[in-house]
Amino acid sequence: MKSSKTSRWGMCMKTAGLVLLLAAVPAFGASAQQSYGAYADSKTFLEQGQHGEAAQKAAKKEKKVAVIIDDFGNGQGGTQEMLSLPIKLTVAIMPFLPTTQTDAELAHQKGYDVIVHMPMEPKHGNPKWLGPGAITSKMSDEEVRRKVEEAIDNVPHAIGMNNHMGSKITGDERIMSIVLQVCRERGLFFVDSKTNYHSVVGKLAANMGMPPVANHIFLDDSHTVSHIAKQMKAVEAYALEHDNCITIGHVGTQGKKTAEVLKNVAPKMQEHVSFVGISDLVRDIWGWQPSPILPSNNN
Ligand SMILES: [Zn+2]
Repeated sequence: MKSSKTSRWGMCMKTAGLVLLLAAVPAFGASAQQSYGAYADSKTFLEQGQHGEAAQKAAKKEKKVAVIIDDFGNGQGGTQEMLSLPIKLTVAIMPFLPTTQTDAELAHQKGYDVIVHMPMEPKHGNPKWLGPGAITSKMSDEEVRRKVEEAIDNVPHAIGMNNHMGSKITGDERIMSIVLQVCRERGLFFVDSKTNYHSVVGKLAANMGMPPVANHIFLDDSHTVSHIAKQMKAVEAYALEHDNCITIGHVGTQGKKTAEVLKNVAPKMQEHVSFVGISDLVRDIWGWQPSPILPSNNN
């Protein structure tokens, strides 16, 4: 550790105190504090993160951004970079893939939220991109239920679910009713990734007393650093106007770029918004209290 960093840290301890520094990251619960030591070594987190006046201002405004990163579980590009970011993420992990378990364990240790990234049939697109355990439109009610249960069982620490692809399935009331039902039984909420503008998920969720959580902005539908940076500006603007913003990015061919942009823009954004997990938003906005009626291994 360089002396300038030490003195900055010392000054911060004196003026703001460790308690305030921790309080400036309101989304990080007990598990994050356990791994706080890892973050204390992070130059960006300490030197550019929220403290002092900026933290107080951000806490007062309570503008919150939940960054969901999709497509974990297959060792895709940017996995390590994402799992090292010093802001709270929500990590959406596909079931039955080579790094499903390890990604979930690492993300949980880091204090990130873990959700199941459930493969669902799209209207268009290569069926090979779906991955194992996908829900397709021809399945019976029983098959759909079993697929959802098996996926939840396969992703440790999952507290919610969102859809991988799924432009066809998220418009299917029969199937989505079953998906939401199983999620509710297992204490999970469902985030509509909004791959289909005619999705029925929000309406169904509201009817079932579940939070109608949905993606607001895709981060990296175009794979350039400048586009992703522009999207992050849009995320900040959306959060400032609406008090919160849910955004979805990806690991994969563009994963390293997305992680790089997040790392670079986060410190500045933290002067105005807080990065929270998706569970923090569903609790704060919709008062969601999971009430599983079936045993779960995802605690
Ligand atoms: Zn996906």
